[in-house]
Amino acid sequence: MTMARGPQTELSALNRPGGDLPPGPVDRRVADLQALLQELEAVTAAGHTLPPVFSEAIDRRLVEIRLGAAASLFAALRCKNAAVAGHGLRVALSCSAWASRIGLQDAERDAVEVAALLHDVGAIGVPDSVLLKAGTLDADETAVMSQSRRMSLDILRGSCTLPLVLEMVRHISTWYDGSVSESATRPGNGSTISGERIPLGARMIAVAEAYDAITTDRVYRPAQSQERAMAELFAGAGTQFDPELVRQFADFCREDQTAIHWEVAHRWLGMLEPDRVDAPWGFNGEAWTATEPDVQALFQSRLLDNMYDAVVFIDAAGRVQSWNRGTERMTGVAGASVRGRLWNPDVLGLSDEKGRTIAAADCPVQTAIHCGVQSLRRLTILGRGQRPVAVDAHAIPVIDAQGVLQGAILLFHDASSETSLEQRCQQLHEKATKDPLTQVANRAEFDRVHAMFVAAHQQQQAPCSLMMCDLDRFKRVNDTYGHQAGDDAIKCLASLLKSSCRPGDLVARYGGEEFVLLCADCDNAAAARRAEQIRKALGQIAQPRMEGRSVTVSFGVTEIQPGDTPETMLRRADRALLLAKANGRNTVVQLGSGAGEESDAAGSRQLEAVRSKEVLQQDLITPVPVKMAIEKLRGFVADHQAKIVATDGNRVRLEIEYRTGNGRFRRFADRTTAFTVEVAFEEERLQRDRRDEHAKSLDAGTTRTRMRVIVSPRRGRDRRRHDVMDLARDVLVSFRSYLMAYEDESTTLAGALTRAKRALAPWLSR
Ligand code: GH3
Ligand code: MG
Ligand code: MG
Repeated sequence: MTMARGPQTELSALNRPGGDLPPGPVDRRVADLQALLQELEAVTAAGHTLPPVFSEAIDRRLVEIRLGAAASLFAALRCKNAAVAGHGLRVALSCSAWASRIGLQDAERDAVEVAALLHDVGAIGVPDSVLLKAGTLDADETAVMSQSRRMSLDILRGSCTLPLVLEMVRHISTWYDGSVSESATRPGNGSTISGERIPLGARMIAVAEAYDAITTDRVYRPAQSQERAMAELFAGAGTQFDPELVRQFADFCREDQTAIHWEVAHRWLGMLEPDRVDAPWGFNGEAWTATEPDVQALFQSRLLDNMYDAVVFIDAAGRVQSWNRGTERMTGVAGASVRGRLWNPDVLGLSDEKGRTIAAADCPVQTAIHCGVQSLRRLTILGRGQRPVAVDAHAIPVIDAQGVLQGAILLFHDASSETSLEQRCQQLHEKATKDPLTQVANRAEFDRVHAMFVAAHQQQQAPCSLMMCDLDRFKRVNDTYGHQAGDDAIKCLASLLKSSCRPGDLVARYGGEEFVLLCADCDNAAAARRAEQIRKALGQIAQPRMEGRSVTVSFGVTEIQPGDTPETMLRRADRALLLAKANGRNTVVQLGSGAGEESDAAGSRQLEAVRSKEVLQQDLITPVPVKMAIEKLRGFVADHQAKIVATDGNRVRLEIEYRTGNGRFRRFADRTTAFTVEVAFEEERLQRDRRDEHAKSLDAGTTRTRMRVIVSPRRGRDRRRHDVMDLARDVLVSFRSYLMAYEDESTTLAGALTRAKRALAPWLSR
């Protein structure tokens, strides 16, 4: 091994100002260096190869010469961890030789050497528990470790005045393709450059330091082969590393490394001038800003890792850069296995509310990165043990101060408890609004919707109709074929009504075998046609549990009228239904006019017919004149606290609240039922011989009063209740006793029989 220029030749130049002085510091230094060079030759001759840590003394001296005033920084690093310091020295030697091979200018080569020597000085700030840990680092330790490179920069900023050195150290971790390595993404770095814009020295050190790290023993793994190291460099070429530099470095490594390192040692020992060495070092007053961002960074990393929610950061190139503990906890996927990889929603098994897998193109991350818009969606991820977890997925684009998109944050909030609460609310809502047998709306829901319906249609003056239907002679169905057959028929009608529904309509089970259908934007005629279709369809369905027979249904249909309330509309539909029943059932009756109920002449006439069956009507006689009969009526009114609501000539209409048990035995469950009592009086003068039996016994006078009394329940909905009709009979009985009235037998079948018997009596007794 020969040296082009011996160290003595160069170093003798340092003996300025004169050679005849007693041995001064320069002479002592020359003597020292000669001894060191001899030692170096001996060590090298003993066959030391890369990585070239010559010896402690030589290393120290080389560094002192190379770093001058800043050598103490390196010394501090060596005190902290000799292996990390040795790594710096080897990388610096390699890079220096490599720089010379590619003809780098002296100034740049100097900067590369300094940056390489001190690039890991930040390790001083890393606790030994992390730095010396043999096993895999956990998330907290990784966060601490990733601060190391930033701390290098902060330490150098304090005393290095050469911007190029600082820029190199700052960008050693910056990936060639623009994505930044994990350590560099930490807050405060703010690196956004890529490719050739990364300082050449930084790109060279990145390659050389990776090679050295792989080929030397580490606390966490033994040294790997040089071939393996090369393979890894080539694998990262184009993404992490500058591909051209990787190729160069591969060529460079084929050269005689010993000769190369000799050359560098020679350059440092022999050619460096103290002024040039110390030039970059001095107090750099602007740089002391290190503490605050560090605390910020620590705060942010701690906050992220202690959050219950999952937080993932994906950079602009689509690589997962951050995966907090919350994400590990929620997904069971370790951060180490995904950090640095390309993001894909499959990692989390993302699916939408309906269970459909989210394709990569539809992933919220894509929307955030490509469109720069936030989104919040309820999604499902596959959690630990492949258990689906409902999450609120919030994707947030990350845009820097210059408006450049840097990536996206994906935040998952576990929504499973909210989902189950929502489900329970949903179930409760269904229970409260649906009829369990038919799954159509129940009466309460109908009342609620009907009120809204009427209000909305009145406001918009749009037509809407109401159908009310009731299965015919349904008691017989139950009695003949059993309750189950009855239930089936009810369900059958419900499903026909449902299938006839249009958007905006509502079917409800009003009670028993009675349904209502609210038809939005539908007039009376159209509603009646629809009712007719349903009626026909039901009549053609053979009921399996009824030996193939069918059931029939009657419909009452009405359209909303100006001034209608839900109550008046419902009453009109009910009246129409009663008419349909009265008309023989299995038919549709529509009532159009709703404003004045009695003004519908045809309806009223028909209703009269119904009344004879559905309300109580009796023709009575009281053996007193009208005047006295009315006096008696006053007693009835007073005692029952009835109200006289209308009088018209010889007609009176009363309203009476009749209490169950007639008030004599009031029970807790007593309730009052409202009736209308209509009485028409007609005075009659009698010939003595025409007076009947009752008249004889009750009244000797010749004037009596005929009365037609109609007792009807006031609320139409109660009309078909049997107990209500019993009460109506009670009202009638009470009325009769107050009025001292008896039934006019001339109008009853029994009366006709009696009269016939009386007429035939002379003949029969013969
Ligand atoms: P109409 O033609 O006058 O309506 O005669 P109807 O026999 O249908 O009249 P009513 O209203 O007196 O009888 C209704 C019957 O419906 C009484 C009740 O036993 C039966 N019912 C009510 N709800 C149900 C139910 O959920 N299932 C079954 N199977 N029957 C029911
Ligand atoms: Mg019925
Ligand atoms: Mg009924």
